[in-house]
Amino acid sequence: MSERAIRQAGMTGRPVALTGWGRVDPTVARVAEPSRRDEVAGLLEAALPRGAIARGLGRSYNNAAQNEGGLVIMTTGLRRILSFDQASGLISCEAGVSLETLMTTGLQAGWFVPVSPGTRQVTIGGAIAADVHGKNHHRAGSFARHVRWIDLLLPDGRELRLSPDANPRLFWATAGGMGLTGVILRAELQLTKVETSRLVVDTVRTVDLDEAMACLAEADGRYGYTVAWLDCLASGKRLGRSVVTSGDFAAVADLPATDRRQPLAFSPAARLRAPASCPPGLITRYTVALANEAWYRKAPRRREGEIQTIGTFFHPLDGIRNWNTVYGPGGFRQYQFVVPFGQEQVVRALVERISAAHAPSFVTVLKRFGPADEGYLSFPMPGWTLALDFPARTPGLTALLLGLDDAVLTAGGRVYLAKDSRVSPEVLAAMYPRLADFRQLRAELDPAGRLASDLSRRLGL
Ligand SMILES: Cc1cc2nc3c(=O)[nH]c(=O)nc-3n(C[C@H](O)[C@H](O)[C@H](O)COP(=O)(O)OP(=O)(O)OC[C@H]3O[C@@H](n4cnc5c(N)ncnc54)[C@H](O)[C@@H]3O)c2cc1C
Repeated sequence: MSERAIRQAGMTGRPVALTGWGRVDPTVARVAEPSRRDEVAGLLEAALPRGAIARGLGRSYNNAAQNEGGLVIMTTGLRRILSFDQASGLISCEAGVSLETLMTTGLQAGWFVPVSPGTRQVTIGGAIAADVHGKNHHRAGSFARHVRWIDLLLPDGRELRLSPDANPRLFWATAGGMGLTGVILRAELQLTKVETSRLVVDTVRTVDLDEAMACLAEADGRYGYTVAWLDCLASGKRLGRSVVTSGDFAAVADLPATDRRQPLAFSPAARLRAPASCPPGLITRYTVALANEAWYRKAPRRREGEIQTIGTFFHPLDGIRNWNTVYGPGGFRQYQFVVPFGQEQVVRALVERISAAHAPSFVTVLKRFGPADEGYLSFPMPGWTLALDFPARTPGLTALLLGLDDAVLTAGGRVYLAKDSRVSPEVLAAMYPRLADFRQLRAELDPAGRLASDLSRRLGL
């Protein structure tokens, strides 16, 4: 749905077809864009019989922020920064404020968001509801660890201030709870001090998966941020060959003289725009193999001390607006799993399976997670995480992903709800041991079922 269509829908709740970022499985819901708390409360009150769900910037990949036949509450009208203490880096804002806005506000005084996913086009409400992680999970944990409090509008219209100390049960059900405990209205976040808006980045091109994993393990101890881009189609001796980038925020003294005058400069505008619609067949095993080859060869075998901007290092895909259209009208399916440390052979077996299936994932990212947060449905756990995106029309994709589910479950791992589009309710329940507690809390909080999404109906959340 375009931003214009949302604005036209206003508070009237006009029916609109929605998808997530992967552009699969569209469903029609009434969409409203409130700008005040009492409007949100009124919408929740009128939500039955099909219920309502909050939606931020729609960057979750499938249908977590969709509600077929019901109501979708856009939070982008709740976009005020409420306070910012430049001495302590504590910032409070409404839930529809984007991470990009937090970056532009914070950086002026030398503060950066504590955790950034691979896009900054995410609201603070969406970041809490998916308890998002970034390249620094091994050091900083996931997003909720840095949230001081959340103002949550409950399904019965009451408003509660949650914090890890004052109301831990509801706080940790809301962090990672995919919008199903209430509508987040406001939150306070502890930002991270930085001296500049650039990073000092080291790059290593690895010959295979073993070298990539060894390199990532070593990087955890040396860098605040690290991740590997992986060639999922490479096979044989080159299986899992990767480009590992690791870095930390630069000090002013690290910058070239020309950049020292404005060490905190940040220009977030996207430079390019993908066409509104692309023909099918642009992303295939052949084009992805070519792109992977070019990307791999372009990377230096080893480079140290390169200065990169926030956009280049954290959000390269944000440089192209609407890049999700390049997969064509069929859209794409993201798949992200984590398996515990000690299950390295499972990661290798799954990469082998994907390569053997010639399944073309355009963006494939491998990373190590550190200790988990307490979120009932938070995704990260200590271990290896691999994120992939496949054109939805890839032949044999359904069987491939079912096989991956089984292997991930057997290894004691799980898939990420913000990206999932097809895991079964039974498999999900086995992957998330605290799901029963989450359901119990939902039954107490929301007996009438005022909060619902396509995701919650499919998985019985
Ligand atoms: C290019 C790209 C890269 C990404 N990289 C990463 C990554 O590195 N790490 C990572 O963890 N994720 C990543 N993501 C996923 C993304 O960070 C999450 O899906 C995030 O939740 C999207 O936020 P949003 O504001 O767009 O929320 P939406 O997609 O609109 O909604 C996501 C969920 O949040 C809920 N929600 C939204 N606002 C509220 C609110 N105010 N109150 C209650 N619930 C609410 C919705 O109901 C829904 O369940 C990436 C996505 C993209 C497109």
